[in-house]
Amino acid sequence: MGYVDLHLHTTASDGVMSPSEIVRYAKAKGLQAIAITDHDTIEGLEEGLSEGEKIGFEVIPGVEISAEHSPGSMHLLGFFIDNHHPFLNERLEYLQKARTERNPKIVEKLNRLGIKITYEEVLKASGGGQVGRPHFAQVLLEKKYVKNFQDAFDRFLKKGAPAYVDKFRFTAKEALHFINGAKGVGVLAHPNTLNMDGYSELEDLVLQLTEEGIKGIEVYYPEHSALKVAQYKTLAQRYGLLMTGGTDYHGIEKNGLDIGVGRGEMKLPYSIVEGLKAARNRSF
Ligand code: AMP
Ligand code: ZN
Ligand code: FE
Ligand code: FE
Repeated sequence: MGYVDLHLHTTASDGVMSPSEIVRYAKAKGLQAIAITDHDTIEGLEEGLSEGEKIGFEVIPGVEISAEHSPGSMHLLGFFIDNHHPFLNERLEYLQKARTERNPKIVEKLNRLGIKITYEEVLKASGGGQVGRPHFAQVLLEKKYVKNFQDAFDRFLKKGAPAYVDKFRFTAKEALHFINGAKGVGVLAHPNTLNMDGYSELEDLVLQLTEEGIKGIEVYYPEHSALKVAQYKTLAQRYGLLMTGGTDYHGIEKNGLDIGVGRGEMKLPYSIVEGLKAARNRSF
C-alpha cells in the first residue's frame, strides 16, 4: 500500500497549483491518493476528479470549512462530499458572498495604512479562484512592503493585526450539518490552531464536536509536535474517531514543505482512506 495526503489546496482557493497540476504532481511523487480540500470552495473538484480519472489516480473530493471559534481558528474537513449536493453548494455560495464583501475592506485598511495596493492586483494574484489573505500577502511581498510571506501576516493580515477584517463563519454544528448532508465525512482539522488553554478544554470541545458529527481528527499535520500527535491520538481513540493527516500544501508560504511528505516526517498510509470510506458507508 502506498501513501496519501489528505489536506491540499489548489488555485480554486489559495494554493499555487491548479487542480489538475496537483493531481499530476501527486502521481509523479508516487502517492496513492490525495484529497483536494480547498477553503470554503469546491470549485476545483470537478477538474481534479476528472484529471484523476484520466491519469488513473485516486482523488478524494473534499473541502475545508472555517468555523466559528475563539481565540484560535477552527477548520473542519469534509471528505468524500458529493460536490453536486444543492444544500452544500448553496451554503458555500453564501461564504463566497461574504468573502466578496470582506476583501475590498482589507484593501481599504491597507490603503489607510499608506500601502498602495489595489483590489485588481489581489484578484490577479488569486489567478481567478477564490480570494484569500495569502493573495494579499503575495502582493505585499511583490511590492516589497514586507520581507516575507509570514511578515505580511504578522504585521498586517493576521487576527488582531491592523488590516485584519473578520469574515462570516458558520458554527461547527452548521458546517457539519451541510458536510454530512452532502454525504461527507467530517474531520476536525489541525487541532493545534484552536489554541485551547489545556488538554481538558480540548477534550470537552472534541466531545462536543463528536456529538455534532465529526468522525475524525487530523492527527498528522506538519505543525504538530510529537507531543501533540500523541495527545490527539489519545483523544481520537477515546472517542472512537478516525485519525487522518495531510500536509496542507499550498505551494507558497511554507518553505521546505512538500506534498505527501511535509518536511520529510510524514508517511500516511492508504489505510486512512479505507477508514474514511468505511465511515461513509456506515452513515449512508
Ligand atoms: P482567509 O481564507 O482569507 O481567511 O486566509 C486563510 C489562510 O491564510 C490560511 O489558510 C493560511 O494559509 C493563511 N494564514 C492565516 N493566518 C495566518 C498566519 N497567522 N500566518 C500565516 N498564514 C496565515
Ligand atoms: Zn489556505
Ligand atoms: Fe486549515
Ligand atoms: Fe488548509
